[in-house]
Amino acid sequence: MNHFHQKQGQLWAEDVPLSAIAQTVGTPIYVYSAATFTRHYNAFSKAATGIDHLIAYSVKANSNLAVLALLSKLGAGADVVSGGELERAIQAGITADKIVFSGVGKTKDEMRAALGAGNGDGIYQFNVESVPELIALSEVATQMGKIAPVALRINPDVTAGGHEKISTGKAENKFGIDITLARAAYDKIRTLPGLEVTGVDMHIGSQITSLAPFEKAMDKILDLVTALRSDGHNIKTYDLGGGLGINYDEGQDDSPLPAAYGAMVKRKIKGHGLKIIFEPGRAIAGNSGILLSTVQYIKSGGARTFLILDAAMNDLIRPALYGAHHQVEAAHKNNTANETVAYDIVGPVCETGDTFAVKRDMLKMEAGDLVAIRSAGAYGAVQASEYNTRPLIPEVLVSGDQYAVIRKRPSIQDILDREAVPSWL
Ligand code: PLP
Repeated sequence: MNHFHQKQGQLWAEDVPLSAIAQTVGTPIYVYSAATFTRHYNAFSKAATGIDHLIAYSVKANSNLAVLALLSKLGAGADVVSGGELERAIQAGITADKIVFSGVGKTKDEMRAALGAGNGDGIYQFNVESVPELIALSEVATQMGKIAPVALRINPDVTAGGHEKISTGKAENKFGIDITLARAAYDKIRTLPGLEVTGVDMHIGSQITSLAPFEKAMDKILDLVTALRSDGHNIKTYDLGGGLGINYDEGQDDSPLPAAYGAMVKRKIKGHGLKIIFEPGRAIAGNSGILLSTVQYIKSGGARTFLILDAAMNDLIRPALYGAHHQVEAAHKNNTANETVAYDIVGPVCETGDTFAVKRDMLKMEAGDLVAIRSAGAYGAVQASEYNTRPLIPEVLVSGDQYAVIRKRPSIQDILDREAVPSWL
């Protein structure tokens, strides 16, 4: 459920017609609904009641400071994968003791920042992905006179995720430590100063629309926890990562709700005495945002009818990158025609891959009409680029009948000002 709805012949975000936002801010823009973020976070939180847990929202899904501040107020922690994301989370008010740091290639500078965060108390947990990374963290922690809390990300070798590019838990993926090498890696920690084992970690993929892969991975990791405890390691936390899928196509997809996921987790971990860390990203942010765009031109007469938008693959790369499906609907039409047309919905970038949808039935559109690309709240703005020297587009947050620009549109000169022509040219 989300708070974008058709009313009086146009699409609204909560109590604001999207056409009003387009008029003042222009298009293309991302529009987010605070009530939807809140609803999704609370659904996750409710699903986790009754177990010791931390919801570390995965900042990579949507890292806008206002979004992080909103989630922080609701009680969220953060899962970060870079020094930049760590800084965002802290500046948005998420305290260091609720932050976990994931990622295969943490630099020593990033480790230093994380160990020094929260007035020097450091973050809640490092999710370490290799033995060389353990060695580097041990060196940094020792130099700083600190003890780094460590969980090892284990690769349980299960197939999961909506697309091969977002599947992360197979043995051939770059992520985590092969489960067959896990006990040796934990034993290695004993030999390294400045490290303290806190738990185990996994993240098997994203847009997972069945509970089965989670269950399979959990069975394997819980067996590992038993083995690690028998080896004398003090395993207190189990970080499940993120990955819960969402419905991109209303009426067709059927992703499990957080309640079903939470019930499964509770059943699995019963009696294991573990604190559970969740790292949801898409499940919270995905359907909390849309990409709002204006129809520039309609090109017809050839093999296809093209709806050419002012938004492009540089603004939302998911369709080009993963062949991802997004619902597209009229947000505001200047005519009242009820005729349906099959459009190829494309952007202005010079790539054939700059296509949001192919042969998609929509109400007949005209130049100047507004189009909403749904489910764009996660992995949308964060993956945007300036390809074709198109400035990053604004983000707007709606709450009830008010809205605010939470990332402004840079000018073309802002882009050029970052560059320099050497005097010797
Ligand atoms: N945690 C880690 C380590 C990730 O890499 C990701 C996404 O790739 C997530 C959490 C969030 O995943 P999702 O948005 O599918 O919940």
